[in-house]
Amino acid sequence: MIQTIKDKIELSENSLLKIGIMGGTFDPVHYGHLVTAEAVREKFTLDQVIFVPVGNPPHKIGQKVTDKKDRYAMTLLATATNPYFDVSREEIDRKGYTYTIDTIISFQKRFEGKAQFYFITGADALNQILTWKHTEQLFKMCEFIAVTRPGYRPDDLFQDIEYLRANFESKIHFMDVPAFEISSTDIRKRVEGNISIKYLLPESIEAYIYKHGLYSGKRPAGSEESHG
Ligand code: ATP
Ligand code: MG
Repeated sequence: MIQTIKDKIELSENSLLKIGIMGGTFDPVHYGHLVTAEAVREKFTLDQVIFVPVGNPPHKIGQKVTDKKDRYAMTLLATATNPYFDVSREEIDRKGYTYTIDTIISFQKRFEGKAQFYFITGADALNQILTWKHTEQLFKMCEFIAVTRPGYRPDDLFQDIEYLRANFESKIHFMDVPAFEISSTDIRKRVEGNISIKYLLPESIEAYIYKHGLYSGKRPAGSEESHG
């Protein structure tokens, strides 16, 4: 039986639900995101991980970002087979610039204060956290789970965690996740250069990218869709 958020809130009674939040541009979503979210969910025994595709993030001004309807659709497709994963339209539907703090405030209302939030961030994202809006309030409202990411030295991540722990009232956990050297930037470049993206992301997302002509690429020869 599929449990709705309302069912989960009712069942949780006295204990707080543990909700992971995986924010990202997801342009496109890939196995690095999915493996990370699943590993964190298991280790921290989260009840659910909500993927939140960003709407209009101020830090992406001047950068070309794929239409939010496509990023939302791809995130939905990629997470559909995991009953613990959900995708939120929270930032997609919001007008103007979108900030994580507003999303957490909205989720707190939605879960009627009966959830503890765990925001999942890769090493690169944690490093930028002090540039986010109202970081101090954010630290009060949710715990963070900082994960390793290939290309970023674990020592730098430890330093960031130590700094934030020492200077802010923050709860930041660390987790070493299986290394997947995949990034959306690399996938976009490959598509543009007609290089295969097989095995970097689910086949359904690969098909979506070519069908909708994202990243101005053509499916390379020998990389046809399987109809097995
Ligand atoms: P881009 O190259 O466009 O920045 P990305 O691959 O970094 O894309 P984002 O949507 O920016 O993906 O990332 C969302 C979150 O997922 C961030 O916290 C990021 O650190 C984390 N993340 C992305 N890829 C990985 C990976 N391979 N391993 C661990 N964490 C990852
Ligand atoms: Mg990124």
